[in-house]
Amino acid sequence: MAYLTTYQVCEIARDTYVINEAGMAAMFLVIGEERALLIDTGVGMTDLPALIRSLTPLPYDVVLTHGHLDHIGGAAQFSEVYVHPADASSLQPIDYDAIAAYVDLLLEMGSKDVYHCTREDIYRTPQMPRLKALQEGMVFDLGGRTLEVIETPGHTAGSCSLIDTRERILFSGDACNVNLLCLEESVTTLKQGLMKIKVHENLFDRNFNGHVGYAGHPYTMAMPVSVLDDALQACEIIIRASQPFVDEGMVFGSKASSITYGKVKISFDPKHIM
Ligand SMILES: [Zn+2]
Ligand SMILES: [Zn+2]
Repeated sequence: MAYLTTYQVCEIARDTYVINEAGMAAMFLVIGEERALLIDTGVGMTDLPALIRSLTPLPYDVVLTHGHLDHIGGAAQFSEVYVHPADASSLQPIDYDAIAAYVDLLLEMGSKDVYHCTREDIYRTPQMPRLKALQEGMVFDLGGRTLEVIETPGHTAGSCSLIDTRERILFSGDACNVNLLCLEESVTTLKQGLMKIKVHENLFDRNFNGHVGYAGHPYTMAMPVSVLDDALQACEIIIRASQPFVDEGMVFGSKASSITYGKVKISFDPKHIM
């Protein structure tokens, strides 16, 4: 018997909340003195404007770390969202049937043991949000707290991460985690994206990715501290082919191989390394 409804909220730092939507995707609400920022919009089963209002009365902006369906599902609940132009096509329009298939998959992977929800809970909104370009170096000034955008391609072409310098948190979307998918871009592109994070390493202590509590796991934790260096080492192994690749079969519709180094597994297209 499950049971929570579609989401749970945890406070991970001062004025900083993770919204774990049914173990399918995690969003973050970051609140300053004058504005707030929502990072990602989940699969779209949650009334996000109402939830945000319950957490802060301040005006806010909405940023998408990348264009994958599990991060953009609720985007049409807002009149405008920021997304990198390289990932914007997935909102023109949002493919709710594909999101429903992802919801079914994640329920079977364990979310249904914790959450009481189905594909019918997805809010399907025909009106798409206005898209504003997310770019390297943009700064969201929330009043007494700023978040800087860095472009971290690899997981997708338009993947971006945000650094909260006050609370010293990296919000990495799907760009730097222990189960890193590099199925659309080359491994050399992924490595370049990770190197961008490495350059900013002195600005953060914790890396929260877009999937805390994945598939019903009862954890709300940052990524292990070694994740960035382990991921860079794994890229190096793949590029140099210095270890045999593991055949993963099909991963989210793509034929994939993998390499594991330390705490990180990278799944990649063996025909698209350079
Ligand atoms: Zn993704
Ligand atoms: Zn994701």
